[in-house]
Amino acid sequence: MRPIHTAELLSIGSELTVGETRDTNAGELARSLTEQGVEVRRMTALPDEQEAVTAAVRAALEATDLVVSTGGLGPTPDDLTRESIAAAIGESPAIDPELESWLRNLFEQRGLAYPASNAKQAWLTPSTTAVPNANGTAPGWWVDRPDGRIVVALPGPPREMRPMWHDWVLPRLAAAGLGRASVSRTLRTAGLGESLIAERLGPLLERGANPTVATYARSDAVDVRISAVPAAEATAEDLVAAAEAAVLHLIGDHVWGRGDVTWPAAIAAALDARRRAWRLGIVEVGTRGSVLALLGEGLGDRIAFAETLPAGHRPATGGWIDLAALADGVRGAGGCEVGLAVRTRTRGGDMAVSIAIVDPDGRHVERRVAFLAGPTGRTRAALLAAAALWRRLAGRSLGEPS
Ligand code: AMP
Ligand code: MG
Repeated sequence: MRPIHTAELLSIGSELTVGETRDTNAGELARSLTEQGVEVRRMTALPDEQEAVTAAVRAALEATDLVVSTGGLGPTPDDLTRESIAAAIGESPAIDPELESWLRNLFEQRGLAYPASNAKQAWLTPSTTAVPNANGTAPGWWVDRPDGRIVVALPGPPREMRPMWHDWVLPRLAAAGLGRASVSRTLRTAGLGESLIAERLGPLLERGANPTVATYARSDAVDVRISAVPAAEATAEDLVAAAEAAVLHLIGDHVWGRGDVTWPAAIAAALDARRRAWRLGIVEVGTRGSVLALLGEGLGDRIAFAETLPAGHRPATGGWIDLAALADGVRGAGGCEVGLAVRTRTRGGDMAVSIAIVDPDGRHVERRVAFLAGPTGRTRAALLAAAALWRRLAGRSLGEPS
């Protein structure tokens, strides 16, 4: 048996290369394989052309331990993945009687004639095992190469591909020795741009190191992902823990969450802390509801009251907006412990953001600038408000904005 450390993914179908269908399969498989400690070396989309697919399978088999394709397993003449793989491994496909009777049965049960074109869905080659498909008529292929490499071909529709991968293929790959026991951890940060984080982390970000530290700018945070594989002198867990301590030492005051936690989830946890079950009232001015859009679904009934006011809003009593008074007002209106008021104003090409929070411990007001105006600025304003609220509720300083 050959341990599987590297993989290549082929997404097959002309609908992909003409842009009719988005390739979601490769991303899903990449994520799953990465979780298993397998390094995905390449992902390629190919048209339904036998020569191109055969060449790609051949090249992938030389480069990696595992090749996984999706698509091109349909019954029609344009679906050529079986032919292509057979050519790449130098074997001839032939009808497998067992598969054929399974297929015939599928049609008979529905009172349908068995179409002659379906014959190739019952094909196997001498080194191929069928991957059962509970949601369609296209069985997959599992091909064992003499050198221990493996080719897996799955149908294109995600609802067929997904269960075949998770329920049948992954367990068998695991039995063959899948990946390296990698450990990874993600720290979610706010208040520093990706380049500033990179500057602070410096040599920790060196490529190809073990442990690996990498930054990812997401829409709601800059994530720092730390991962390691076991080394001669330390376990993967120890290597990650040491790197995490080093990262926290450098940017720890900007970390607000771990893993795939979202802003509403982090804020919900802070509202619920010490069993206090606090609830929140929100008023936003000029944001077109971006704060509620960010937090509403996730906080659910923890939001006792919410109000969205237009940019030109003025108090009924005349004069200027007192944001802390607004926050206090929604706290009263919702009969809840925490009031949050957020106001955005376009300034130059950016968004000036004022945030006021009133809670049982007192009040807090701050002013920030969100990069860019318009919808992007309003979305970023909501993220700044979420960060301010979390910091206040969690009793944490979240670094200074830069
Ligand atoms: P197939 O008959 O196996 O070639 O795939 C049929 C259908 O699966 C296509 O028409 C798409 O709707 C879907 N499909 C194929 N490849 C992909 C892919 N890489 N990502 C998402 N959907 C796909
Ligand atoms: Mg196809």
